[in-house]
Amino acid sequence: MSSNEYAELLQAAARFIRENDDFLVVSHVQPDGDAAGSTFAVAWMLRELGKTFTLINEGPIPAKFMYMAEDIPVVNYESNPPGRQFRRIIAVDCADPERIGRVRECFAPDAELLNIDHHATNDGFGHWNLVKADAAATVEVLYDLGEAMGIPFSQQLNVCIYSGLLTDTGGFRYSSTSPKVMRIAADLLSRGVQGHELAERLLETMTRQQVSLLKHCLSSLSFAADGRIAWLSVTLDDLKAASAGNEDMEGLVNYARNVEGVEVGLLFKEKGPELVKVSLRSSGAVNVAEVAASFGGGGHVRAAGCTIAASLSDAVDQVVKKVEAAMA
Ligand code: 5GP
Ligand code: MN
Repeated sequence: MSSNEYAELLQAAARFIRENDDFLVVSHVQPDGDAAGSTFAVAWMLRELGKTFTLINEGPIPAKFMYMAEDIPVVNYESNPPGRQFRRIIAVDCADPERIGRVRECFAPDAELLNIDHHATNDGFGHWNLVKADAAATVEVLYDLGEAMGIPFSQQLNVCIYSGLLTDTGGFRYSSTSPKVMRIAADLLSRGVQGHELAERLLETMTRQQVSLLKHCLSSLSFAADGRIAWLSVTLDDLKAASAGNEDMEGLVNYARNVEGVEVGLLFKEKGPELVKVSLRSSGAVNVAEVAASFGGGGHVRAAGCTIAASLSDAVDQVVKKVEAAMA
């Protein structure tokens, strides 16, 4: 995409926001740091513009991200459905409408949707699609949008954007860490964002449950393709034994991916008797977005995910075979 085309997408998004009100802001199910950061970043931008809005996620936003909310309420759709529909939707960090989950039930039949994202697999499901596949995070696109609209950046907005950049680049380490990412981060630091505090909070700190889960999970480490593929699994029993929840599994896949010689690391998360969520990570040699897409999921070349209706052992067989084929 040329810089002119991107500028036009930014202007179209800016018009949609300026000319409307009463927005529903939604990110994907089981939000990560970029999804949560983007949701709250949009909220702080809309507040700056004097717009009304409602933030809704299918489930709870993990407690560790709630420092970004301050006094802004977030609706948990499953426990507290809003009982009304919305005509102006802003979806952030969602590659396809499935990722929005049940919050789609809040869309009015004539709803207009602005899709803001950075996934190469984004299917352009919005009426407006502000999608930049070479952005490291959705918050990077929101930074550009804020600048294009001339919105004053509050300290809360700065913190949300920094948080999304930090988490989606794995602490400014992944290949997505472009000069532009570092320039934005530097800009935010110079405006007073406490980068070390956010790194400690978002990347260093582990809950007791996370460590306990890690203890269980590491015993499942297995290899295929001469050590080029490694995987871990988490059963529902493991979760129970560690008193852990979904958010405690974040980052686990890296223990498979980071083993010397491994090109693709996988994490298989048992969700039910015949339901497994898979996280895929690649050193870059294998495009795991393609592997995930072949199971109805998606993501990025080096980080992707999908859900498979099978037992844990069948899901392992199917995905490992697909990865082996992609390596051949
Ligand atoms: P994770 O493994 O951390 O859940 O997800 C890694 C990447 O893959 C993220 O960029 C996420 O947005 C994407 N992803 C994970 N699960 C799915 C899925 O079911 N569908 C799609 N399209 N993308 C997914
Ligand atoms: Mn993201």
